[in-house]
Amino acid sequence: MSRISVAIDGPAGAGKSTVARRVAKRLGITYVDTGAMYRAIAWKALQNKIDPENEEAITQLAESVQIDLHPDGIRVDGRLLKDELRTSEVSQLASNIAKMPGVRRILVNIQQRIAEGRSVVMDGRDIGSHVLPHADVKVFLTASIEERAMRRYREMKAKGIDVDFEQLKAELAKRDENDRTREIAPLKKAEDAVLVDTTGCPVPEVVEKILQLCRNKINDEE
Ligand code: C5P
Repeated sequence: MSRISVAIDGPAGAGKSTVARRVAKRLGITYVDTGAMYRAIAWKALQNKIDPENEEAITQLAESVQIDLHPDGIRVDGRLLKDELRTSEVSQLASNIAKMPGVRRILVNIQQRIAEGRSVVMDGRDIGSHVLPHADVKVFLTASIEERAMRRYREMKAKGIDVDFEQLKAELAKRDENDRTREIAPLKKAEDAVLVDTTGCPVPEVVEKILQLCRNKINDEE
């Protein structure tokens, strides 16, 4: 198989980026964090003090921003962004701007162009259903809300960020609700995606499961 595309979707905090990054590393292919792209537009809108309800201005911003992949994060107009994208403010705003059709059109276009010429592991909400509908392997990662919130809580604590567990859980639930109920490309398992529940399942085991799906696909093709 000359090229492989792996789509990993699921709700916030299901472990998508950790797992997707490791799968990509093991396969020696590009990892694309599409959530970071929505977050980057949200971050830039906050920086430029753009009214978050002003769809036209946010869409124009998405159009003008230069987004580049970087192994350690994402480069936005030449600036490498990492932890700046992970604040609660950016998370909620990213979920709101992700409802805007113009923003989605622009970012989906960038994502499809990235995947055109190379093998990728791409994670997000609509990868298997919209961005790469013909992906070779589609996975829908999920976990209980308690576990997803606890993972985020530990992650933030480890970074020295003081957060309240209940508040974090409420924010995750709100973002999921937003993502599931939006009109365009809502968060939903693609019919042909494999459901992987990661509740109580260590990361290496989840990674192995997905690598096995990739191997099966490669063997089928040969
Ligand atoms: O994956 P992450 O939590 O970083 O995504 C941030 C937000 O970006 C999500 O809550 C969702 O609203 C949006 N998103 C999306 N489609 C994607 C990836 C992320 O709508 N493919």
